[in-house]
Amino acid sequence: MHCSGDQHYYESRLKQEHAHMICLQCGRVDEFFGDPLKKLRQRIESHFGFQVVNVRIEVGGYCSNCQRLRSSEIRPGPGDTLETKT
Ligand SMILES: [Zn+2]
Ligand SMILES: [Zn+2]
Repeated sequence: MHCSGDQHYYESRLKQEHAHMICLQCGRVDEFFGDPLKKLRQRIESHFGFQVVNVRIEVGGYCSNCQRLRSSEIRPGPGDTLETKT
């Protein structure tokens, strides 16, 4: 048995591009798989002539759970208007 605590040890088996969506609030890590990542790889290879061996993408943000928590915490300030400059 191998118990190194590496939660991503299985990834070498998947060998598939995926992005990590990391919640800045609770630290939850979700994985995103899909064609856009394959296309990104292909674009880099064709555009830059760069041979991509692995792709590592990390996206920071808030998971749906934390979004709900945040929206209940954050109250819009009274008279707080956004000014847009041209
Ligand atoms: Zn992963
Ligand atoms: Zn979260």
